[in-house]
Amino acid sequence: MINEAILQYLDNIRPSQSEWIIQLRREAEEHHVPIMDEHGIGLLQQLIRIHQPAKILEIGTAIGYSALRMLEAKPDTQITTVERNPEMVERAIYNITSLNKQNHIDVILGDALEAADRITEKGPFDFIFIDAAKGQYRHFFDTYQQSLTDDGCIVTDNVLFRGMVANPSDASKRLQKLAEKIDQYNQWLLQHPEYHTTILPVGDGVALSVKKTK
Ligand code: SAM
Repeated sequence: MINEAILQYLDNIRPSQSEWIIQLRREAEEHHVPIMDEHGIGLLQQLIRIHQPAKILEIGTAIGYSALRMLEAKPDTQITTVERNPEMVERAIYNITSLNKQNHIDVILGDALEAADRITEKGPFDFIFIDAAKGQYRHFFDTYQQSLTDDGCIVTDNVLFRGMVANPSDASKRLQKLAEKIDQYNQWLLQHPEYHTTILPVGDGVALSVKKTK
């Protein structure tokens, strides 16, 4: 995507980060938990600052990192975040509570496609962030777009998947299949009759979708 020298330059000029951010990134790295990269987080935070959502839904909590970074961008928002792995939920609740943010971030244990009733009752949401199983993106979008406010925004991470969506021949057979699924999602999303979508080559590739006005 963007060449290494540019990424290095952007990393070099980034202001130093708070200790809690460094610690959470370290925790993710040590336990091999995939979290959103810094360039993607920067974009996500700017979108939140511009859009000012009162309620955010996140699909894929992991250790709570991106939820906490979204809250950092708008400290009075309410975030509902869903995660199917109980160990991750435990870590996320620990991290969120340690930073005293439990009144703003509600972690739901469950599969986002099975727990939809429990989740949608917390909506409607002004901002939805999809960052869970890549093969299920379309199902997540279809299930939760009904809970999006008319001027809401859906952000999907990893839509370029380390360059493999554009160059599947670089990937192993298993990852090629996943890259194909993401490609199908991207094409479906770009042709969706009810949404305008832009895909930005930031981080691992971020799709921004907003409802077309009637
Ligand atoms: N958003 C997090 C961050 O940037 O800090 C990273 C999320 S990680 C890429 C994806 C997470 O989604 C994993 O912890 C995984 O267990 C969870 N997940 C995958 N499929 C899911 C599903 N169907 N329902 C709920 N959680 C799911």
